[in-house]
Amino acid sequence: MVCTRLSRVDKNPLGALMKHAFFIFILMFPALSFPANAPIYSSYSIGNPGLDTLRKLNEKFDVARRTANGYEVIVPEDRAGELLKIVPLAQLVEKDINDVFRRLDIANPGWRNEYRSFDSVQKELKQISQSHADIALLENYGVDEQSRQLLVLRLTGKQPLRADVPELMITSATHGDEIHTVEMLMEFIQGLVQGYGTDSRITKMLDEHVVYFIPVVCPDGYVHYTRACEGLDPNRDYPYPGSPSHNSIAAIKNETLWFAKHKIAGSLDIHENLSTVMYPWAYTSSGPSQDDLPRFKEIGKVMAEDTGYNFGQIADVFGIARGSSADYWYWKGKTLAFGFEIGGRFPGQGKPSRELDRGNEEALRHFIEYF
Ligand SMILES: [Zn+2]
Repeated sequence: MVCTRLSRVDKNPLGALMKHAFFIFILMFPALSFPANAPIYSSYSIGNPGLDTLRKLNEKFDVARRTANGYEVIVPEDRAGELLKIVPLAQLVEKDINDVFRRLDIANPGWRNEYRSFDSVQKELKQISQSHADIALLENYGVDEQSRQLLVLRLTGKQPLRADVPELMITSATHGDEIHTVEMLMEFIQGLVQGYGTDSRITKMLDEHVVYFIPVVCPDGYVHYTRACEGLDPNRDYPYPGSPSHNSIAAIKNETLWFAKHKIAGSLDIHENLSTVMYPWAYTSSGPSQDDLPRFKEIGKVMAEDTGYNFGQIADVFGIARGSSADYWYWKGKTLAFGFEIGGRFPGQGKPSRELDRGNEEALRHFIEYF
Protein backbone atom coordinates (compact mmCIF):
# COMPACT_ATOMS: atom_id res chain seq x y z
CA MET A 1 0.00 0.00 0.00
CA VAL A 2 2.77 2.42 0.89
CA CYS A 3 4.50 1.69 -2.41
CA THR A 4 1.39 2.13 -4.56
CA ARG A 5 0.68 5.55 -3.11
CA LEU A 6 4.27 6.66 -3.59
CA SER A 7 4.34 5.70 -7.26
CA ARG A 8 1.23 7.73 -7.94
CA VAL A 9 2.59 10.99 -6.52
CA ASP A 10 6.17 10.70 -7.79
CA LYS A 11 6.72 12.11 -11.28
CA ASN A 12 10.36 10.99 -11.52
CA PRO A 13 10.48 7.27 -12.43
CA LEU A 14 14.06 6.78 -11.17
CA GLY A 15 13.28 8.63 -7.94
CA ALA A 16 10.16 6.50 -7.55
CA LEU A 17 12.21 3.38 -8.12
CA MET A 18 14.77 4.45 -5.52
CA LYS A 19 11.98 5.18 -3.07
CA HIS A 20 10.46 1.81 -3.85
CA ALA A 21 13.76 0.10 -3.23
CA PHE A 22 14.24 2.03 0.00
CA PHE A 23 10.79 1.23 1.34
CA ILE A 24 11.03 -2.38 0.25
CA PHE A 25 14.35 -2.57 2.10
CA ILE A 26 12.84 -0.98 5.22
CA LEU A 27 9.84 -3.29 5.03
CA MET A 28 11.86 -6.42 4.29
CA PHE A 29 14.69 -6.02 6.73
CA PRO A 30 12.75 -6.52 9.94
CA ALA A 31 10.98 -9.48 8.35
CA LEU A 32 14.30 -11.09 7.56
CA SER A 33 15.92 -10.40 10.90
CA PHE A 34 12.88 -10.51 13.16
CA PRO A 35 9.19 -9.71 12.72
CA ALA A 36 8.65 -6.09 13.62
CA ASN A 37 5.22 -6.77 15.06
CA ALA A 38 6.34 -9.44 17.51
CA PRO A 39 5.42 -8.19 20.99
CA ILE A 40 8.29 -7.88 23.45
CA TYR A 41 8.14 -9.94 26.64
CA SER A 42 10.59 -9.71 29.52
CA SER A 43 11.30 -12.37 32.08
CA TYR A 44 11.68 -11.59 35.78
CA SER A 45 12.69 -13.77 38.66
CA ILE A 46 10.90 -13.34 41.96
CA GLY A 47 11.57 -14.97 45.33
CA ASN A 48 8.92 -17.10 46.99
CA PRO A 49 5.96 -14.72 47.35
CA GLY A 50 3.03 -15.37 49.68
CA LEU A 51 0.00 -17.17 48.27
CA ASP A 52 -1.96 -13.92 47.90
CA THR A 53 0.80 -12.31 45.88
CA LEU A 54 1.16 -15.40 43.72
CA ARG A 55 -2.57 -15.37 43.05
CA LYS A 56 -2.41 -11.68 42.08
CA LEU A 57 0.51 -12.36 39.75
CA ASN A 58 -1.29 -15.29 38.17
CA GLU A 59 -4.30 -13.12 37.44
CA LYS A 60 -2.26 -10.45 35.68
CA PHE A 61 0.77 -12.20 34.23
CA ASP A 62 2.17 -15.45 33.02
CA VAL A 63 3.92 -17.14 35.95
CA ALA A 64 5.97 -19.28 33.62
CA ARG A 65 7.58 -21.71 36.00
CA ARG A 66 8.87 -22.49 39.43
CA THR A 67 12.63 -22.03 39.79
CA ALA A 68 15.12 -23.10 42.46
CA ASN A 69 14.57 -19.85 44.41
CA GLY A 70 11.06 -18.80 43.46
CA TYR A 71 9.30 -18.20 40.17
CA GLU A 72 9.92 -16.87 36.71
CA VAL A 73 7.30 -14.41 35.47
CA ILE A 74 6.83 -13.34 31.84
CA VAL A 75 5.72 -9.73 31.54
CA PRO A 76 4.93 -7.61 28.47
CA GLU A 77 7.70 -5.03 28.40
CA ASP A 78 5.28 -2.09 28.71
CA ARG A 79 3.67 -3.54 31.87
CA ALA A 80 6.84 -3.98 33.92
CA GLY A 81 5.70 -1.17 36.23
CA GLU A 82 2.61 -3.15 37.22
CA LEU A 83 4.76 -6.12 38.19
CA LEU A 84 7.15 -4.00 40.24
CA LYS A 85 4.20 -2.53 42.16
CA ILE A 86 3.22 -6.04 43.26
CA VAL A 87 6.74 -7.41 43.71
CA PRO A 88 9.18 -4.49 44.12
CA LEU A 89 12.14 -6.87 44.41
CA ALA A 90 11.45 -8.65 41.12
CA GLN A 91 14.68 -8.95 39.16
CA LEU A 92 14.91 -8.55 35.43
CA VAL A 93 16.44 -11.71 33.92
CA GLU A 94 16.00 -11.06 30.20
CA LYS A 95 14.63 -7.81 28.77
CA ASP A 96 13.38 -9.60 25.66
CA ILE A 97 12.87 -13.33 25.90
CA ASN A 98 13.29 -13.58 22.14
CA ASP A 99 16.79 -12.12 22.32
CA VAL A 100 18.17 -15.60 21.89
CA PHE A 101 16.74 -15.63 18.35
CA ARG A 102 17.98 -12.12 17.58
CA ARG A 103 21.49 -12.95 18.76
CA LEU A 104 21.43 -16.02 16.55
CA ASP A 105 20.36 -13.95 13.57
CA ILE A 106 23.61 -12.02 13.97
CA ALA A 107 25.89 -14.95 14.86
CA ASN A 108 24.51 -17.48 12.38
CA PRO A 109 22.19 -15.79 9.85
CA GLY A 110 21.23 -19.07 8.17
CA TRP A 111 20.09 -20.88 11.30
CA ARG A 112 16.38 -20.61 10.52
CA ASN A 113 16.85 -22.77 7.45
CA GLU A 114 17.78 -25.66 9.74
CA TYR A 115 14.21 -25.68 11.07
CA ARG A 116 10.82 -26.25 9.55
CA SER A 117 8.85 -23.11 8.83
CA PHE A 118 5.08 -23.01 9.31
CA ASP A 119 4.57 -23.34 5.55
CA SER A 120 6.97 -26.27 5.26
CA VAL A 121 5.17 -28.08 8.10
CA GLN A 122 1.84 -27.61 6.31
CA LYS A 123 3.35 -28.83 3.04
CA GLU A 124 4.99 -31.83 4.68
CA LEU A 125 1.71 -32.86 6.36
CA LYS A 126 -0.06 -32.69 3.00
CA GLN A 127 2.69 -34.78 1.37
CA ILE A 128 2.46 -37.40 4.12
CA SER A 129 -1.31 -37.65 3.76
CA GLN A 130 -0.94 -38.07 -0.02
CA SER A 131 1.93 -40.56 -0.10
CA HIS A 132 0.56 -42.62 2.81
CA ALA A 133 -3.13 -42.24 2.08
CA ASP A 134 -3.80 -45.77 3.38
CA ILE A 135 -2.87 -44.82 6.95
CA ALA A 136 -2.87 -41.00 7.02
CA LEU A 137 -5.66 -38.47 6.80
CA LEU A 138 -5.25 -34.72 7.02
CA GLU A 139 -8.13 -32.70 8.45
CA ASN A 140 -8.54 -28.94 8.62
CA TYR A 141 -10.28 -27.90 11.83
CA GLY A 142 -10.55 -24.19 11.14
CA VAL A 143 -8.38 -21.11 10.82
CA ASP A 144 -6.66 -18.77 13.25
CA GLU A 145 -7.19 -14.98 13.43
CA GLN A 146 -4.94 -14.49 10.40
CA SER A 147 -6.76 -17.16 8.33
CA ARG A 148 -3.92 -19.65 8.69
CA GLN A 149 -5.17 -23.21 8.37
CA LEU A 150 -5.25 -25.35 11.50
CA LEU A 151 -4.33 -28.92 10.56
CA VAL A 152 -4.53 -32.25 12.35
CA LEU A 153 -2.99 -35.42 10.92
CA ARG A 154 -4.72 -38.69 11.76
CA LEU A 155 -2.66 -41.89 11.61
CA THR A 156 -4.03 -45.37 12.05
CA GLY A 157 -3.34 -48.84 10.61
CA LYS A 158 -4.92 -50.45 7.57
CA GLN A 159 -6.43 -53.24 9.66
CA PRO A 160 -10.20 -52.91 10.14
CA LEU A 161 -10.52 -51.01 13.39
CA ARG A 162 -12.35 -52.38 16.35
CA ALA A 163 -15.01 -50.04 17.64
CA ASP A 164 -13.00 -49.42 20.79
CA VAL A 165 -9.62 -48.52 19.31
CA PRO A 166 -8.26 -45.79 21.61
CA GLU A 167 -7.92 -42.29 20.16
CA LEU A 168 -4.86 -40.32 21.24
CA MET A 169 -3.68 -36.77 20.60
CA ILE A 170 -0.11 -35.43 20.47
CA THR A 171 0.45 -31.70 20.02
CA SER A 172 3.41 -29.29 19.83
CA ALA A 173 4.18 -25.59 19.33
CA THR A 174 1.48 -24.37 21.62
CA HIS A 175 4.29 -21.96 22.46
CA GLY A 176 5.70 -20.86 19.11
CA ASP A 177 9.26 -20.26 20.33
CA GLU A 178 9.58 -23.93 21.34
CA ILE A 179 10.71 -24.85 17.86
CA HIS A 180 12.40 -28.15 18.71
CA THR A 181 9.03 -29.58 19.70
CA VAL A 182 7.89 -29.33 16.07
CA GLU A 183 11.08 -30.89 14.72
CA MET A 184 10.79 -33.74 17.17
CA LEU A 185 7.13 -34.40 16.44
CA MET A 186 7.52 -34.20 12.65
CA GLU A 187 10.47 -36.64 12.81
CA PHE A 188 8.36 -38.92 14.98
CA ILE A 189 5.51 -38.81 12.46
CA GLN A 190 7.93 -39.52 9.60
CA GLY A 191 9.28 -42.50 11.55
CA LEU A 192 5.76 -43.88 11.97
CA VAL A 193 4.63 -43.56 8.36
CA GLN A 194 7.92 -44.92 7.03
CA GLY A 195 8.02 -47.82 9.50
CA TYR A 196 4.42 -48.93 9.08
CA GLY A 197 4.28 -52.29 7.33
CA THR A 198 7.97 -53.05 7.79
CA ASP A 199 8.66 -52.40 11.49
CA SER A 200 6.48 -54.73 13.55
CA ARG A 201 6.39 -52.48 16.62
CA ILE A 202 5.25 -49.43 14.63
CA THR A 203 2.75 -51.48 12.65
CA LYS A 204 1.18 -52.76 15.87
CA MET A 205 1.14 -49.24 17.38
CA LEU A 206 -0.86 -47.88 14.46
CA ASP A 207 -3.06 -50.93 14.01
CA GLU A 208 -4.17 -50.68 17.61
CA HIS A 209 -4.53 -46.90 17.94
CA VAL A 210 -5.81 -43.82 16.21
CA VAL A 211 -3.27 -41.07 16.82
CA TYR A 212 -4.00 -37.42 16.01
CA PHE A 213 -1.08 -35.04 15.59
CA ILE A 214 -1.24 -31.26 15.72
CA PRO A 215 2.38 -30.16 15.17
CA VAL A 216 1.57 -26.42 15.32
CA VAL A 217 -1.18 -25.60 17.81
CA CYS A 218 -0.59 -21.84 17.57
CA PRO A 219 0.54 -20.78 14.09
CA ASP A 220 0.80 -17.10 15.08
CA GLY A 221 3.40 -17.83 17.76
CA TYR A 222 5.30 -20.26 15.53
CA VAL A 223 5.46 -17.84 12.61
CA HIS A 224 6.83 -15.12 14.90
CA TYR A 225 9.02 -17.35 17.11
CA THR A 226 7.25 -16.12 20.22
CA ARG A 227 5.68 -17.68 23.26
CA ALA A 228 2.66 -15.46 22.78
CA CYS A 229 -0.08 -16.14 20.25
CA GLU A 230 -2.25 -13.16 19.27
CA GLY A 231 -0.61 -11.36 22.20
CA LEU A 232 -1.62 -13.95 24.81
CA ASP A 233 0.02 -16.94 26.41
CA PRO A 234 -1.94 -19.71 24.64
CA ASN A 235 -1.25 -22.19 27.42
CA ARG A 236 -3.15 -19.94 29.84
CA ASP A 237 -5.98 -19.38 27.39
CA TYR A 238 -8.03 -22.58 27.77
CA PRO A 239 -11.18 -22.47 29.87
CA TYR A 240 -10.70 -24.25 33.20
CA PRO A 241 -13.00 -25.13 36.11
CA GLY A 242 -12.43 -21.69 37.69
CA SER A 243 -13.32 -19.89 34.43
CA PRO A 244 -15.53 -22.27 32.43
CA SER A 245 -16.81 -19.76 29.86
CA HIS A 246 -13.45 -18.17 29.08
CA ASN A 247 -13.31 -17.06 25.45
CA SER A 248 -10.10 -18.37 23.85
CA ILE A 249 -8.24 -17.16 20.77
CA ALA A 250 -9.25 -18.91 17.52
CA ALA A 251 -6.38 -21.43 17.44
CA ILE A 252 -7.30 -22.69 20.92
CA LYS A 253 -11.06 -22.37 20.51
CA ASN A 254 -11.03 -24.42 17.30
CA GLU A 255 -8.78 -27.02 18.89
CA THR A 256 -11.28 -27.43 21.75
CA LEU A 257 -14.20 -27.67 19.29
CA TRP A 258 -12.34 -30.37 17.36
CA PHE A 259 -11.58 -32.19 20.63
CA ALA A 260 -15.26 -32.17 21.60
CA LYS A 261 -16.06 -34.32 18.56
CA HIS A 262 -13.64 -37.05 19.62
CA LYS A 263 -13.14 -39.37 22.53
CA ILE A 264 -9.49 -38.79 23.30
CA ALA A 265 -8.19 -41.33 25.83
CA GLY A 266 -4.73 -39.81 26.24
CA SER A 267 -2.94 -36.63 25.20
CA LEU A 268 0.56 -35.21 25.23
CA ASP A 269 1.14 -31.50 24.78
CA ILE A 270 4.84 -31.16 24.02
CA HIS A 271 6.67 -28.11 25.37
CA GLU A 272 10.33 -27.29 25.63
CA ASN A 273 13.05 -26.51 28.17
CA LEU A 274 12.01 -27.90 31.53
CA SER A 275 12.67 -31.64 31.12
CA THR A 276 9.53 -32.73 32.95
CA VAL A 277 6.57 -35.07 32.50
CA MET A 278 3.49 -33.60 34.20
CA TYR A 279 -0.14 -34.40 34.85
CA PRO A 280 -3.11 -32.22 36.01
CA TRP A 281 -4.12 -30.28 37.78
CA ALA A 282 -2.27 -27.10 36.98
CA TYR A 283 -4.85 -24.59 38.25
CA THR A 284 -5.01 -26.06 41.75
CA SER A 285 -2.70 -28.02 43.99
CA SER A 286 -5.43 -30.68 44.44
CA GLY A 287 -4.59 -33.81 42.51
CA PRO A 288 -6.63 -35.70 39.90
CA SER A 289 -9.26 -38.16 41.09
CA GLN A 290 -8.12 -41.25 42.97
CA ASP A 291 -9.43 -43.36 40.07
CA ASP A 292 -7.16 -41.65 37.58
CA LEU A 293 -4.05 -40.95 39.64
CA PRO A 294 -2.59 -44.50 39.46
CA ARG A 295 -2.86 -44.47 35.65
CA PHE A 296 -1.26 -41.02 35.38
CA LYS A 297 1.58 -42.30 37.57
CA GLU A 298 1.95 -45.59 35.76
CA ILE A 299 2.53 -44.20 32.29
CA GLY A 300 4.10 -40.92 33.44
CA LYS A 301 6.85 -42.75 35.31
CA VAL A 302 7.69 -44.83 32.25
CA MET A 303 8.09 -41.67 30.16
CA ALA A 304 10.19 -40.08 32.91
CA GLU A 305 12.45 -43.15 32.98
CA ASP A 306 12.81 -43.16 29.20
CA THR A 307 13.99 -39.56 29.23
CA GLY A 308 15.51 -38.99 32.65
CA TYR A 309 13.03 -36.12 33.18
CA ASN A 310 11.34 -35.06 36.41
CA PHE A 311 7.82 -36.27 36.95
CA GLY A 312 4.87 -34.97 38.94
CA GLN A 313 1.72 -32.88 39.08
CA ILE A 314 1.92 -29.60 37.15
CA ALA A 315 1.02 -27.44 40.16
CA ASP A 316 3.85 -29.04 42.18
CA VAL A 317 6.58 -29.31 39.57
CA PHE A 318 5.86 -26.11 37.71
CA GLY A 319 3.70 -23.96 39.93
CA ILE A 320 0.04 -23.00 39.67
CA ALA A 321 -0.99 -22.24 36.07
CA ARG A 322 -4.55 -21.44 35.09
CA GLY A 323 -5.96 -22.21 31.67
CA SER A 324 -3.47 -24.86 30.53
CA SER A 325 -4.13 -27.48 27.87
CA ALA A 326 -3.65 -30.55 30.07
CA ASP A 327 -6.25 -29.29 32.57
CA TYR A 328 -8.74 -28.66 29.77
CA TRP A 329 -8.44 -32.12 28.19
CA TYR A 330 -8.62 -33.86 31.55
CA TRP A 331 -11.53 -31.69 32.72
CA LYS A 332 -13.63 -32.02 29.55
CA GLY A 333 -12.70 -35.49 28.26
CA LYS A 334 -11.42 -37.37 31.32
CA THR A 335 -8.37 -37.67 29.04
CA LEU A 336 -5.12 -38.88 30.57
CA ALA A 337 -3.55 -35.55 29.62
CA PHE A 338 0.15 -34.82 30.05
CA GLY A 339 2.35 -31.83 29.62
CA PHE A 340 5.61 -33.19 28.22
CA GLU A 341 8.45 -30.67 28.50
CA ILE A 342 11.42 -31.87 26.50
CA GLY A 343 14.92 -30.73 27.42
CA GLY A 344 15.82 -27.57 25.56
CA ARG A 345 18.63 -27.13 23.13
CA PHE A 346 19.37 -23.65 21.91
CA PRO A 347 18.33 -23.03 18.34
CA GLY A 348 21.17 -23.06 15.91
CA GLN A 349 22.92 -25.90 17.74
CA GLY A 350 21.39 -28.25 15.23
CA LYS A 351 17.91 -29.68 15.10
CA PRO A 352 17.34 -32.71 17.27
CA SER A 353 18.44 -35.81 15.47
CA ARG A 354 16.61 -39.09 15.95
CA GLU A 355 19.72 -40.42 17.68
CA LEU A 356 19.97 -37.54 20.16
CA ASP A 357 16.29 -37.73 20.94
CA ARG A 358 15.96 -41.44 21.31
CA GLY A 359 14.71 -40.99 24.87
CA ASN A 360 11.87 -38.71 23.75
CA GLU A 361 10.97 -40.99 20.87
CA GLU A 362 10.82 -44.00 23.18
CA ALA A 363 8.65 -42.03 25.63
CA LEU A 364 6.19 -41.17 22.83
CA ARG A 365 6.07 -44.81 21.75
CA HIS A 366 5.49 -46.02 25.30
CA PHE A 367 2.76 -43.40 25.71
CA ILE A 368 0.88 -44.71 22.64
CA GLU A 369 1.39 -48.35 23.60
CA TYR A 370 0.01 -47.77 27.09
CA PHE A 371 -3.53 -47.39 25.77
ZN1 LIG B 1 5.72 -24.19 26.48
